[in-house]
Amino acid sequence: MTRPSIASDLCTQCGLCCNGALFDFGPLASEEVPGARRDGLSVLEDNTKYGFALPCPALEAATCQVYSTRPQTCRAFQCKLLRAVEAEDTTLDEATHIIIQTLAALDEVKQQLPPNSSLTDARRWRREEGEAGATATLTASPYLMMALGMLDLMLDQHFRKATERQVMPRA
Ligand code: SF4
Ligand code: SF4
Repeated sequence: MTRPSIASDLCTQCGLCCNGALFDFGPLASEEVPGARRDGLSVLEDNTKYGFALPCPALEAATCQVYSTRPQTCRAFQCKLLRAVEAEDTTLDEATHIIIQTLAALDEVKQQLPPNSSLTDARRWRREEGEAGATATLTASPYLMMALGMLDLMLDQHFRKATERQVMPRA
């Protein structure tokens, strides 16, 4: 179990699992839906499957404003970096440095985003351009795609499994 002080020291300067950088979406059990709506989360519904959209509106300055009632998936999620610090494979200082670098990479992506667009939009453009191959009409600037590629490399290396892209793992 993660010691609360480690998670607190690390996560309150990070927020990458809540701010849309790591995931677009977190799963919800059906019984969590009313509480998530009360907490102001953007609940998404697809037949009998539920979730909430990220970036999470409950995140303020890397701190969860609905901490005591947050969904189970948020309670259970530990990124690779947090687990490495917990296992003493990485020091808190090293982990803090990685977070600072990754937040800087996220800022770089945001600076390249066209007005009124999001990280989710940029990832969708990249996917669509990949699917269209050589016939693609480029929606996004090459600088945005380069910055996004760099960010995703850092996220895959330090924070998530490549298979966890887009969706926060189910608790
Ligand atoms: S990505 Fe990891 S270090 Fe950052 S807030 Fe989430 S669990 Fe904490
Ligand atoms: S509810 Fe809290 S812990 Fe969960 S994604 Fe939102 S800000 Fe993060």
